[in-house]
Amino acid sequence: MGLEVPSASSPAVHNVMIANKSTNTKPELLVRRFLRNSGFPGYRLHWRIDGDDGRYICRPDITFPGRKLAIFVHGCFWHRCPTCNLSLPKSNVDYWSQKFQKNVDRDRRKEESLVNLGWTVHTIWECKVESETSSLIEILVS
Ligand SMILES: [Zn+2]
Repeated sequence: MGLEVPSASSPAVHNVMIANKSTNTKPELLVRRFLRNSGFPGYRLHWRIDGDDGRYICRPDITFPGRKLAIFVHGCFWHRCPTCNLSLPKSNVDYWSQKFQKNVDRDRRKEESLVNLGWTVHTIWECKVESETSSLIEILVS
């Protein structure tokens, strides 16, 4: 707690920070286009999901509410993709490692809560957009 946001230590880090501010990220747009082109235009964006007690859980990037299917499109840097295992920025290491750990913990909590409510959760990593969107389509046609 009480962490200060460091200034971007390099243009590359800066670009990643800017890119991830937006909710309509490039991989999200790709997935959505793929879904529409595959004949599944009926998704909702950032659909609010509450628990049985009415407590807010999350707004997944893409949701098919009728199918109880929640889709997260994760940027490899922010969500700490296990495949890419991208290195931390070299400065402000404590800040970044705490921030990333919070992101990972939050992702895991959301997924657990959704699964407990009977939702299917499908995560698409930025680096595997094509293959993981294909397996999403397989879920949708089944
Ligand atoms: Zn990745």
